[in-house]
Amino acid sequence: MVDHCPLCERLKEPSSEFCSFHNAALKNLEDAYSSWSKAYDGKLTREEYYEKLTALAETGRTVKNLIEHLREKGEGN
Ligand SMILES: [Zn+2]
Repeated sequence: MVDHCPLCERLKEPSSEFCSFHNAALKNLEDAYSSWSKAYDGKLTREEYYEKLTALAETGRTVKNLIEHLREKGEGN
């Protein structure tokens, strides 16, 4: 039974697979996807979004780690 966040040493939030820190990062990531998707006329896939984000120098390590994790899980479409 792992009760640590998969991305760091913090404990998971009860309702999430991540800690509060990474959970907040995930929410931001999801919110930003909605805006990006609109900007791309709804044609931006999650994978393309992740690729663009990870290519940006200003994307922080927290977000990059999160994206890496989500990709490994093979979620999204
Ligand atoms: Zn974490």
